[in-house]
Amino acid sequence: MQLVTSTKKMQQLSLLLRRKGKKISFVPTMGALHKGHLSLVKKAKRLGDFVVASIFVNPAQFGPKEDYKKYPRDLRKDKELLQQAGCDLIFAPRVEDIYPEGYLTYVNIDELSNKLEGASRPGHFKGVCTIVAKLFNIVQPDFAIFGQKDAQQAIIIQKMTEDLNFPVRIIVCPTVREKDGLACSSRNSYLNTEERDQAKILYQSLKLGQKMIKAGEKNPLKIIKKIRELINNQKLAKIDYIALTDTQTLEPVRKIKGELLLSLAVKFGKTRLIDNLKICV
Ligand code: AMP
Repeated sequence: MQLVTSTKKMQQLSLLLRRKGKKISFVPTMGALHKGHLSLVKKAKRLGDFVVASIFVNPAQFGPKEDYKKYPRDLRKDKELLQQAGCDLIFAPRVEDIYPEGYLTYVNIDELSNKLEGASRPGHFKGVCTIVAKLFNIVQPDFAIFGQKDAQQAIIIQKMTEDLNFPVRIIVCPTVREKDGLACSSRNSYLNTEERDQAKILYQSLKLGQKMIKAGEKNPLKIIKKIRELINNQKLAKIDYIALTDTQTLEPVRKIKGELLLSLAVKFGKTRLIDNLKICV
């Protein structure tokens, strides 16, 4: 497995691979890898001939009061895990090479970026779109693999890929969870024992919503109210949002029908966690 930090070298390598007819699959990450990330690498291996994983904590997608500085970083462990998962190359550029002095160009999708996560984290998706567009140009992948865990991100990246004509197929893989249902996340490492224990309510509450829908509940407000009550029973939980939206427009639904996204963001102490379920009626 190779480790490349130079953007030029990465691009040259990718162009060479493509000229040889190799299909490149790409898994963008911010490192601090867990089994959710590794499931994407395994999918990448099945899809292409050469797997690239990037590790880059992207400052442009963090707000000024967010955890950019303390975001967990462990390149040594990440390397080991990626090697075991069968990754062929790690691309780990330096911040100053991605955003050199005088950097000015950003990619933004207003309509989808100001809802849910974007409403709570202004500028977040502008940072995400910009880095993913740059990585697509550098890595030149045939396939790019994302997680359903960040449902809104996957939708926005799909839209950006279509709108900007990137010749990349976007693949979205299911959320990998811990035994008690908590979605694997690099940020779970911030939780203390009590917070970690209470955080399992997130998946339980999504499942409750799903159960209500399957039982025929048609009023989204009633479902959201029940979920709110359940989460508020945990004394360390502070709800940011709970939403039932259309899976494409991310607009709140008035009536339960078709394909829906039930999503939420909740803080436990200082740690903000997100999760979602796609539900078909
Ligand atoms: P991150 O390192 O948090 O930027 O995530 C990198 C990629 O891994 C994104 O496409 C995420 O959606 C995906 N991912 C993160 N957590 C999980 C999970 N628990 N299951 C599946 N994919 C995940």
